[in-house]
Amino acid sequence: MDIPARYPGDARTIAMRIKNPLQALGRLLYNRAPIEAQLIVTRRCNLSEIPFDTLRERIDALHQLGVLNIALLGGEPLLHRRIAEVVAHADRQAQVSITTNGFLISDRLIEDLNAAGLANMQVSIDALGTDASRYIQKTLKPLLPKLKRLAERAAFDVHLNVVLCDETREQFEEMLAELRRFPFWMSMNLLHDDRGRVKVGGPSFEAVWNRHYEGGRAISYLERDYGRRLLRGEHPRWRCRAGSRFLYVDEVGHVQYCSAQRGRLDIPLAEYTKMDLRRESRTDKGCEEGCAMLCVYRTSLLDNAPIALARSFLVGVSKGVLGRPAAERPGTVTAASLTPERSPGL
Ligand code: SF4
Repeated sequence: MDIPARYPGDARTIAMRIKNPLQALGRLLYNRAPIEAQLIVTRRCNLSEIPFDTLRERIDALHQLGVLNIALLGGEPLLHRRIAEVVAHADRQAQVSITTNGFLISDRLIEDLNAAGLANMQVSIDALGTDASRYIQKTLKPLLPKLKRLAERAAFDVHLNVVLCDETREQFEEMLAELRRFPFWMSMNLLHDDRGRVKVGGPSFEAVWNRHYEGGRAISYLERDYGRRLLRGEHPRWRCRAGSRFLYVDEVGHVQYCSAQRGRLDIPLAEYTKMDLRRESRTDKGCEEGCAMLCVYRTSLLDNAPIALARSFLVGVSKGVLGRPAAERPGTVTAASLTPERSPGL
């Protein structure tokens, strides 16, 4: 069984695809637009999905604020029965990503998401093999057939999202070997507690973190130094721009700082204005110390450290992350090398 070395999105793939880049730059610098808004589309099961018309209103409000990337989250966003329509609506004025556990991926769904204009799918993975206790459910091996489907059919970018914890630390090299067979990139996040503070640390975690950036499949270098310092037990100072460059829209449609600080900002999205964006750009959140919400850290860098941002971008270019499809980038063993013996059941 072969996986194509190139997949349909290759011709127009860059690592973080940016829709209308010049317009996006203007929105970022002149209008001080949010870089990302995470939008909850469902909580856990399909009985709690948010109605399409409600989501459409929320997406329109995010478009009004000029958000560059709308990240659809859940629960499991692919459980939403009209997810492709949600993507198509959001795609009209923003680029769209989905974060999923991947288990509902099918050929039909991929085709629908291709047609809807999805830019990016992030597949979350917490461990390599199945966990007998079923405590960890987002494991790589049962997902391999789904990843193969994505490699064959997806016109959007696919990133694998790994959380650094005990399981991934121990299995990292093995995971990397599995992932090398696919033309996908990886992002690594740090395990955090329910208030956003980093929950892992020490030399063994730092070694894996370094390996990810130096010899792995990293898609972003923005948070490399910050994460390394957190793992050493340091508390680097930074200004969190949540509520400004980053928005988290919960299931009732209220803007929150982030998933770990729900209830503090709590402003209905329909009432959120550019004045709110400006105010929150200057507000100290008080929970920055030890914060491991790397998605917020990344989006805050544009204001906090534009030179470091430019440097990280150049590192990405020098490592071959940007500008070429994953299957052609240095260090990538193409998925065509996957053999039936190594992939039972695919
Ligand atoms: S510092 Fe910002 S991102 Fe981190 S927990 Fe606080 S509000 Fe959330």
